[in-house]
Amino acid sequence: MKNFVLLLLLLPATLAYSQKAKKKNNRNTNTGSFYVKTTDSLPFLNYGLGTDRLGGAKMTFLDSNVILKVVDSFGTQYKVQLSGNHNAWIEKANVARTNWAFNPPYLSGSWTTRGDSLYDYLFISLPAKIPYRSRMDVNPSRIVIDLFGVVSNTNWITQLKSTKEIKNVWYNQEEDDMMRVYIELNHDLHWGYKIYYDTLNRLTVLVKRQPASLRLRDLKIAVDAGHGGDQPGASGIRTAAKEKDYTLLFAKELQSALEVRGAHVVMTRDRDTTLTMFERISHLYQEQPNLLVSIHFNSSSKESVQGVSTYYRYVGFRPLSQAILNQMLTLGLNNYGNIGNFNFSLNGPTAFPNCLVEVAFLSNPEDEQKIIDPVFRKNVAEKIVAGIEDFLIQAEKNQ
Ligand SMILES: [Zn+2]
Repeated sequence: MKNFVLLLLLLPATLAYSQKAKKKNNRNTNTGSFYVKTTDSLPFLNYGLGTDRLGGAKMTFLDSNVILKVVDSFGTQYKVQLSGNHNAWIEKANVARTNWAFNPPYLSGSWTTRGDSLYDYLFISLPAKIPYRSRMDVNPSRIVIDLFGVVSNTNWITQLKSTKEIKNVWYNQEEDDMMRVYIELNHDLHWGYKIYYDTLNRLTVLVKRQPASLRLRDLKIAVDAGHGGDQPGASGIRTAAKEKDYTLLFAKELQSALEVRGAHVVMTRDRDTTLTMFERISHLYQEQPNLLVSIHFNSSSKESVQGVSTYYRYVGFRPLSQAILNQMLTLGLNNYGNIGNFNFSLNGPTAFPNCLVEVAFLSNPEDEQKIIDPVFRKNVAEKIVAGIEDFLIQAEKNQ
C-alpha cells in the first residue's frame, strides 16, 4: 500500500473534481433521464464523485439486474436517483441500458423469515429489483437496510422459529418513498450477510449465523496474499524485497499456523500469479469462509513512518481487526492504528468478517529488516492466529 501523505496531496485535486462535477450537475439535472440495470460485475454505488487511490467512498454493493434511474452523467459515472431524497453514482461499466417503463414508488408485499440447515433468511416481496443499501449497527447488533422507491403495503410479516441468528424484523416507512428494514441479531458480533434477489425475485437477506462451534478446527478461514504476478506492490527501501513475494510468504506461514490447529484454510493465491480484486472476491463468495485475513505491507514516502495497522470498512467487523492488532502489537511494532471505513476491496464484502493487516512498512529500514526475517514471519503468523482466537473467545462470551 502507498502512504497516506499522498492522499492528502491528492485532496485539492479531488475537491476541484467535485466542484467541476457540481457545475455540470447543475447544468444537466432533470434532462433526459433513463433506466439502466446493473450487470454481473460486482456493481456498487458511490456516495459522490470524491475519490482516492482506492476509489470513491462506496455506499453499497448491488446484485445484478437492479433497476436504476440515470439522471446525470460525469466522466465514467452515472448519477442515479434512488428516491426523492437520495442519489448515488455508479460506474457506467457496471450497468446496461434497459427499456424498463415502470416508475416508482413500488409497493412492498409480505415478509417471511426462516432458517435452513445453514443460514437464516428474510424474504421481502417487491414488484421490481429496486436498489437498496445496508449498514451494520452495533450495540445492539442489527442489519439495517434502506429500500429506495418503496412505499409500504406490508401488512404481513411471518417470523418462523427456524431462524437462529435473526431475533426480530420490522420496518419504518422512513421517508415517503424509502422503507427502512431492521434485522435484529441474536449475537453481539456480526458474522456477515448477503443481499440479493432470489429466483422468485424476492429481495433476500441471507444472514450468517455465529458458528455453532468456535474452535478453529471447525472453521474455514480465508487468507489473502496481496498483489502477485504483474502487480508487485511496494518494494523495500534497502533491499529489492517485493511486497507480492512477502505477502505470499507470510500468507503461507499463516496458512500453516492455522492448519496446525486444524482450521480449514482457503488461499486466494498460493503462487506468484496475477489476480484481479473481482477474481479474489468471486472466489471468496464461492468458498464462503467464516472470516478473511488479507496480508499487505505498507509504504510511505517518509522513511521514518513505521508500524503495524489493521483495517476494516464496516463497524460490525471492527472487533476482528482490533483483536489482530492487539496481538500484533506484542511483537514490539509501532502502532500505526486501527483504521475504519477503509476503501480496500477485500474490506468490501459484507458476507464474512474481514481484516486487512498491513504488517509493517517496507519503506522503513527497521521494519524492512523484520519483514525479510523468517523468524519474524513465524511470529507474525502466530500473532494473527492468536488475534483470531481472541476474537473467537469474544464471540464465545456472547453465546
Ligand atoms: Zn499492498
